[in-house]
Amino acid sequence: MSIRVNQINKRFKDFVAVDNVSLDLPEGQLTALLGPSGSGKTTLLRIIAGLEQADSGSIEFHGEDQTHQHVSERGVGFVFQHYALFKHMTVFENVAYGLTVKPRKLRPSKEAIRKKVMDLLELVQLDWTAHRFPNQLSGGQRQRIALARALAVEPKVLLLDEPFGALDAKVRAELRSWLRRLHDEIHVTSVFVTHDQEEALEVADRIVVMNHGRVEQEGSPEEVYDHPANPFVYQFLGKVN
Ligand code: ADP
Repeated sequence: MSIRVNQINKRFKDFVAVDNVSLDLPEGQLTALLGPSGSGKTTLLRIIAGLEQADSGSIEFHGEDQTHQHVSERGVGFVFQHYALFKHMTVFENVAYGLTVKPRKLRPSKEAIRKKVMDLLELVQLDWTAHRFPNQLSGGQRQRIALARALAVEPKVLLLDEPFGALDAKVRAELRSWLRRLHDEIHVTSVFVTHDQEEALEVADRIVVMNHGRVEQEGSPEEVYDHPANPFVYQFLGKVN
């Protein structure tokens, strides 16, 4: 599912969070929205998801206008920064959630839900945690469960907001390569937000560098790293003469 972001603007009172952003995100690619804190990455991601409405501009998935579609109708899986798992539900119930809240007609049978959830837990290599509660898991495990939950509805678009932001460096590094493998395995179009240039350079097919709500540069990791478009990108990547 290709994604087209067309002249998106978003203000919070007088503050311009997203400033006329246009982007084409090709089908099947893993794109990093990279930039310093406050540069508008999360706001843009939430607008792509339909969790936030833009003031103007449009969002298309595969050429179809999604601008006024509700988040539940866009076919997106969303992974929040701090996992946002339901504390009072088991891992199994968390992953099953998106399937159990479907309207009765669209809801899979109990057995189909069980199979789907166990397949997803196997995919994230955590099937043994099915009956545990989130607080019995490590941060890295919780984030993998959050991913399994996002995948339960078989999204065509997977959106991740600083997916590894709350984890320590070692777990971050593990989950990076893990996300890359997972993305390749399930054939989705993915976008993840990060302020960590190393993470973007290592994992993404495509990098969009943002600052002050604007796109400073977009391209492959090699293009962005080898040919920073301007002094901001140059400096942000920590390049030295
Ligand atoms: P990033 O993800 O790059 O850190 P955000 O998109 O979260 O940036 O935020 C961009 C700016 O918009 C920040 O300065 C933030 O304070 C502001 N902002 C984000 N959401 C809201 C909101 N709901 N109300 C007011 N200001 C907001």
